[in-house]
Amino acid sequence: MKRVAERLLVAGVGLIGGSLALALRRAGAVGEVVGLGRSEQNLRVARARGIIDRIERDPCRAARGVDLVVVAVPVGAIAPVVRALAPALPPEAVITDAGSVKGPVVRAVERALGTTAGRFCGAHPIAGTEDSGAAAAADDLLRGERCVLTPTRATRPATVRRVRALWKAAGMRVETMGLAEHDAIFALVSHLPHLAAFALVGAVADAGRARRALAFAAGGFRDGTRVAASSPEMWTDILLANRAQVLAALGRFERSCEGLRGAIARGDRRRLLAVLARARGVRRRLTRPPAGARRRS
Ligand code: NAD
Repeated sequence: MKRVAERLLVAGVGLIGGSLALALRRAGAVGEVVGLGRSEQNLRVARARGIIDRIERDPCRAARGVDLVVVAVPVGAIAPVVRALAPALPPEAVITDAGSVKGPVVRAVERALGTTAGRFCGAHPIAGTEDSGAAAAADDLLRGERCVLTPTRATRPATVRRVRALWKAAGMRVETMGLAEHDAIFALVSHLPHLAAFALVGAVADAGRARRALAFAAGGFRDGTRVAASSPEMWTDILLANRAQVLAALGRFERSCEGLRGAIARGDRRRLLAVLARARGVRRRLTRPPAGARRRS
């Protein structure tokens, strides 16, 4: 395969950054991979697993001579990391990210880059698990999954082409979307289910006989709350960054719960049956996820 980068910098060599690097290596699509991160221990794991060739802790040293940068750190850290790297990047270097929220992140990155904003194209790979760090990275995590690019009027067409080629080389199906649409959609199908899972675990953990009840937790509780085992740091950033859309989705969920509560309180069997049957139909019509995707968020 044609190389998408001679020297790739992965800033944040966690689940997503690490999985991307492994997939690109497997495809023979990159030369050297440099890892920049916060945790020395995680970077050592990444090097030992062959995810990166070289560890850098200093952004200016990390940026030297790279032709492509992937910023795969929690959403709140993306723009600060880009700001720290930018002065030392070669002029032809292109930047993308993996953040789960796009509007505020892309705007902050473009502000940080100023007149060189055209070298950035936001991305959101729609794949993941509740696990974090380089130890959890897998070369097939992204394969066959969708990746949403969110170019803006500032993005150079050549940047979009290179960023598209990067995610495609990792086996992803790439499409583009506007910032507002992206954040509204993912508030509904990703941020809300995570919020609901955190709330569900919290409700049970706060109950009087929580320990005894949790000892009996089986499929229903485990399947419905899997994503509550996700990184609190990452999800705090996501929920706050997409605040308006998350609150709108939460309002819908609260009304949905109120509807169920009313039907149960009234003993309204017909209504309850109708609500459950509709939800079952919608859930069953979701296409089956690809192999291995049961663990994905
Ligand atoms: P992760 O916790 O596995 O990895 C993040 C890495 O970034 C860690 O190694 C951490 O040490 C490092 N880091 C944190 N702050 C940093 C900083 N200021 N400078 C340098 N390194 C820093 O998280 P992840 O699941 O790989 O998520 C990374 C990004 O991808 C997030 O923006 C997230 O929203 C997005 N994303 C996650 C998923 C998912 O399911 N996990 C899916 C799609 C997109």
